Amino acid sequence: MRTLFKRVAIAFLILLMPGSPVLAQSILRDAETEHFIRQLSDPLLKAAGLTPSSVHLYLLHDNSINAFVAGGQNIFIHSGLILAADDVDELQGVLAHEICHIACGHGIRTQEAYANAGTASVLSMVLGAAAILAGGADAGMGIMMAGQSVAQGQFLAYSRGQESEADVNGAKYLQAVGISPTGMIRFFDKLRDQEILAQVRQDPYVRTHPLNRTRIMQLQEIAEKSPYYQTPPNAARNEEFLRLKAKLAGYLYEPRQTLRKYPLSDKSVAAHYARVYAYHKALEWDLALEEADALIQAEPDNPYFYEIKGQILFENGKVQDSLPVLQKAVALAPQEALIATAYGQAMVSLEDEAQMAKAIPILEDATRRDPENTFAWFNLAKAYAWTGKDAQASLATAERFFSGGSPSQAAMHAERAMKGFKEGTPEWLRAQDIMVISQAAAERQRRRR
Ligand SMILES: [Zn+2]
Repeated sequence: MRTLFKRVAIAFLILLMPGSPVLAQSILRDAETEHFIRQLSDPLLKAAGLTPSSVHLYLLHDNSINAFVAGGQNIFIHSGLILAADDVDELQGVLAHEICHIACGHGIRTQEAYANAGTASVLSMVLGAAAILAGGADAGMGIMMAGQSVAQGQFLAYSRGQESEADVNGAKYLQAVGISPTGMIRFFDKLRDQEILAQVRQDPYVRTHPLNRTRIMQLQEIAEKSPYYQTPPNAARNEEFLRLKAKLAGYLYEPRQTLRKYPLSDKSVAAHYARVYAYHKALEWDLALEEADALIQAEPDNPYFYEIKGQILFENGKVQDSLPVLQKAVALAPQEALIATAYGQAMVSLEDEAQMAKAIPILEDATRRDPENTFAWFNLAKAYAWTGKDAQASLATAERFFSGGSPSQAAMHAERAMKGFKEGTPEWLRAQDIMVISQAAAERQRRRR
């Protein structure tokens, strides 16, 4: 079944990514990581006078060090940046700096660049491109493709004046939430060594956020005035950060590399976590399950440990065994749409009518919380179709193409859905909205070509 999902998803990728594959980048989706980054960013966004829910954060699968703002209120963070940060304050320092680039209006240059590139809607570019899921939730992490607009965003350099403003205001936001600005300085200082390298060898962050000695000195001066200058990173939050770093490393690095960094002698939760992913990647299912069980034993109420165990069982073809484990994960974290999606996917994959009916409310809930989750829409449409709810299946498919940035397919399925619902019902109105918006978007696409 998984192969089929993969094949379907890959087919869409090819359809929807006609541009240069060099510029294509994938977005990592992981419930725990997204939840954690939001915990770090939301207080800073509030301190900057922004509404957290209107700012989107995306984790890009890229081992170089970078973080950037694209298409207005979207922050993109490279996995390489998280792996390069030594503690949570360094990551939060970079976030504070990036948040000023939004709050201080530095995005205008970006918008101009988009206009110059001849694109119609900045928002539809970023969101449309960001929502195509490839292969579903892979061991608790999903991958989506990000489009050219995102790739462009990371090449737009800020001016020195803007950089300095972002440092000053970033430090202010950190102070408002009681965090020492020294993490920000430590992180930038690490990158300063790269200034002397040839451009091709520099990490993109160094090229787009010009660093110099004056900047670091200015930051140091501000930092010393902070009442939290000497405050170390919050211990619990830092532990969570180190776990996520281990999880990311296990997911992204070669298994041998991960096992060298997190040897068996290391019995910390972070090390177990890294090894779950390393063994999973090496197709050592039994060892991966052993590590997952060690995690559950250490923290029997941690939803993410059940999530990974359930995913391993599911991907190993033990779908029935995966169900109670994923159910437990959902029960422990009912707000996490990505975990609910994994549970729904497992139920749908059994191709059994009773399971399909059970999967529907779970996937409906997941799409309500995470409407950009094309994979949840895909599974929901399948469950509807199996249970004879054809109009709902068409509407879910329309939603899937709508959030995936394929307006002509979205319009076609929305039109089909409208025929199945009574005029004026919420479903009918939603289908009509999708149809009207998507037809206009499809028309714009045609004219651009
Ligand atoms: Zn900057």
